Amino acid sequence: MGRTSAVAGSGKARGGVFGAKLALSRAIGAASRRSGRGGGTTLPGRLLLRMEPEAIARLGAALDRGTTIVSATNGKTTTAGMIAAILAADGRHPVHNRAGSNMTWGVATALLEQRGEEGLFEVDEAWLPRVAEQLDPSLIVLGNLFRDQLDRYGEMEALADDWAGTVAARVGLTNFVLNADDPLIADLGRDAEGERRQGVLYFGIEDPSQALPELQHAFDAKHCRRCGHPYTYERAFVGHLGHYACPNCGAQRPQPEVAATAIELHGMDGSRTQVRTPSGEIELNLPLPGLYNVYNALGAVAAGLQLGVAPEQIAAALGEMRAAFGRVETIEVGGTPVSILLIKNPAGANEVLRTLMLESRERGDESEGIDLWIALNDRIADGRDVSWIWDADFELLAGGVRRVVCSGTRASEMALRLKYAGWPEQAIEVVPGIEASLDAAVEGTQGRLFALPTYTALIELRKLLADRGLAKEFWR
Ligand SMILES: [Zn+2]
Repeated sequence: MGRTSAVAGSGKARGGVFGAKLALSRAIGAASRRSGRGGGTTLPGRLLLRMEPEAIARLGAALDRGTTIVSATNGKTTTAGMIAAILAADGRHPVHNRAGSNMTWGVATALLEQRGEEGLFEVDEAWLPRVAEQLDPSLIVLGNLFRDQLDRYGEMEALADDWAGTVAARVGLTNFVLNADDPLIADLGRDAEGERRQGVLYFGIEDPSQALPELQHAFDAKHCRRCGHPYTYERAFVGHLGHYACPNCGAQRPQPEVAATAIELHGMDGSRTQVRTPSGEIELNLPLPGLYNVYNALGAVAAGLQLGVAPEQIAAALGEMRAAFGRVETIEVGGTPVSILLIKNPAGANEVLRTLMLESRERGDESEGIDLWIALNDRIADGRDVSWIWDADFELLAGGVRRVVCSGTRASEMALRLKYAGWPEQAIEVVPGIEASLDAAVEGTQGRLFALPTYTALIELRKLLADRGLAKEFWR
């Protein structure tokens, strides 16, 4: 490592015109940062791609030790962060794009600005085929496909088709880590493996006690990709992730090699999970909450094994994870701990609501319930159509909330949704404006405040916290 480490952009890639374009992009990026305008984190990559559309392929070719790509609707930032922690425990420091910068320009910026001999990139679902074609990845990790917003309906099936094309083109060149519990993802492995399942490692949950009482209505992929017949589910764990089979053509969930056999969830504190792997049994003590993070961790464990890291080392690395890079973090605001949980689609929101329900139950009968701040925006990056909130199960928390302050551009619709979900009307307040509403929420909170922003509300929140010197502004 170290001594012989290849520099992305060095060697034969550096000379001549391409070298000049790299230098120019780096210089402008540095100047933009010095001017303190912020928000310039992916500017170098954007500039470079404008001048040199093949830049990702050219820079990526210098990553001699291979490249891992992670994609999913929910959890790709967390899963990639977990894999980074696993590699770090093994003394490896890949070129890795910053949390959330998962379009081509985020990848290009990382390649431009970091040195390393292997790559680790989280990639937006829609960009996966293009980035995979350019990066020649040695490993692709696919977590799940959920319907992100109602106004993107139909895209999920189209994405699955695009991904299938990518997998078919990469058979024999790339190893795959796939979620056996997501029928859309698992099916891609059947395309890859023929009957031999070569280069494919599946992960999944095998603890029936974690099954949902009934299928939630945020239920996306209920038709067989092979024949169009509805799947029958023996059980579901998160949205449509579970144990399924097609009664018509016989397609069924593959047996996962990396499997969670016993799971204990401990509210916001995390979870303890027994995991069976081809290299033996390990126990994961995850400091991140919820079953969805168990899925993220299983994907990371399987990836770690594919990347040659020992199971005990993987377990140790995940046990020391912190959420700083990811989707759950706690920041003190005026002495009140504020735990931030992104909500952006029904399935993701349901997992957050389920985790909060456990949290509220763990506080016991003497508790009056939890305090919440929910910020619903309808800007382009959120999806303009906010009717997805009617598909999320806010009913789960009806008996467990002390107070909720609604904010964002669609605050009143959020409040209306909560009333219909049976939340006590006197507990619901609407305060327009991110800053005023957050301060109002913090002021009235007993103990911890749970902040549930949509994507652009999270960006506003982070900027606000950064301006107050409470957090770094790394969301873009
Ligand atoms: Zn079928």
